[in-house]
Amino acid sequence: MQELYDVLIIGAGPAGLSFARSLADLPLRVGVIERSSQATLADPPEDGREIALTHLSVNHMQEVGSWQRLPAEGVSPIEAAKVFDGSSSYSLDFDNTSANLDALGYLVPNHLIRKACYEELLAHPHIELMPETVVEDVTTDAHCGTVTLNNGEQLRARLVIAADTRFSETRRKMGLAAGMRDFSRSAIVCRMEHSTPHHQTAFECFHYGRTTAILPMNGNRSSVVVTVNSKDARQFIDMTQAEFNHNIERQMDGLLGEMQLTGKRHLYPLVAVHANRFISERFALIGDAAVGMHPVTAHGFNLGLRGQATLARLMANAIAEGEDFAGEAVLEAYEKEHQAATRVIYHGTNLVVGLFTNETLAAKLARKATLRLANNLPPLKKAITTALTEQEGKTLNPLHELKAHLPPLPPLPEVTPVKQVRSKLVQALPEKLHPLNVLGLR
Ligand SMILES: Cc1cc2nc3c(=O)[nH]c(=O)nc-3n(C[C@H](O)[C@H](O)[C@H](O)COP(=O)(O)OP(=O)(O)OC[C@H]3O[C@@H](n4cnc5c(N)ncnc54)[C@H](O)[C@@H]3O)c2cc1C
Repeated sequence: MQELYDVLIIGAGPAGLSFARSLADLPLRVGVIERSSQATLADPPEDGREIALTHLSVNHMQEVGSWQRLPAEGVSPIEAAKVFDGSSSYSLDFDNTSANLDALGYLVPNHLIRKACYEELLAHPHIELMPETVVEDVTTDAHCGTVTLNNGEQLRARLVIAADTRFSETRRKMGLAAGMRDFSRSAIVCRMEHSTPHHQTAFECFHYGRTTAILPMNGNRSSVVVTVNSKDARQFIDMTQAEFNHNIERQMDGLLGEMQLTGKRHLYPLVAVHANRFISERFALIGDAAVGMHPVTAHGFNLGLRGQATLARLMANAIAEGEDFAGEAVLEAYEKEHQAATRVIYHGTNLVVGLFTNETLAAKLARKATLRLANNLPPLKKAITTALTEQEGKTLNPLHELKAHLPPLPPLPEVTPVKQVRSKLVQALPEKLHPLNVLGLR
């Protein structure tokens, strides 16, 4: 007889693990299927990604307990950010004091997030984790979904969730179309030490032909992200360490003094994905499987956290009302809310990438104008800061208002250990923002 679950999550990446944790207080039998081994989940290898977390995400991780599992030295506050264009020393500046915040956001290595989410799940052993298991097929009907594993075994669930990367095979198998944008650019990410302190400042330098981002880690260390045309990416991996150090020092114009590569260089081809629909019968996409972002606005995992929390909240509400937690009403509500939360930021990010990687004169002038406008129009700057930091005191905690009304957890079956973006306007502008001044033409 096929095992019957309430929810089966495909993929124990940070999104899948976070969703499993969000469901842990609900009276549901939840299984998580993951290709990697238990040992890899317990101690994921460094992958070079340093994730900038917004305040909303940090609040959520604190509420569910995974934040407390991060080693203090692994969390680096970002107190200021400077955006440069071309070889100009003019920068668009953000800082925590004018935003009235301790930090604009927090940088945490991806592997530590994965580890913390996994450890948090271990504290909820009724969530069944199935490591070293690959999903080969998924079908659903009005009543349940059937997941076929690589060992031939079939599992059934009232709801199947795909959290299996931006190239989600499950999404394809379920016939959900997605808009994809291949930027034909790749990011080379690594850690570097430097002789001059960064003062917890992030630098985004849109040089012509390439972008260099410096994200401040604790001490005189930074995460360096170089984005270039994919045909040129390999040379950044193959350069000698000394050549690479010198290259980054020159790009930063000596701002951080002498720079020294520490550790490996990782290569990520940049492809952004937005599924046209996030749901099907008894099925939903979360994390990168729903929306895979270009990293420039640092929103991928932040949106993933938001989406899983939205779905979990809607499911919890349905359970509290005695309704079907995986029915059409819940899934359509998730679709509506998460599409609204992601579409603008997804297309806005792609527009920013387009503007800052376009080498025509018009684009170069437009980006200089954009930086000056954003710097000199306080409401616009505040709007950007609010969007990027998500500092408003909201909560993503799905069970925030509901906890007291939920039925108690049912007795648990015997489980294997946790297997887990003119004229009137111009007149209104201050003189320094007149287009001719902005473009340096008078
Ligand atoms: C260079 C870079 C920098 C980034 N910086 C930021 C940032 O600053 N801020 C931010 O918010 N985001 C950032 N991101 C995005 C962030 O890393 C992702 O959004 C996040 O890791 C996605 O998590 P996920 O769980 O959805 O998917 P993944 O981490 O891709 O995990 C998917 C899991 O599914 C498993 N899987 C896949 N197929 C199967 C199958 N058939 N059967 C079983 N298991 C399967 C995989 O093994 C994997 O464990 C960045 C990304 C990159 C590349």
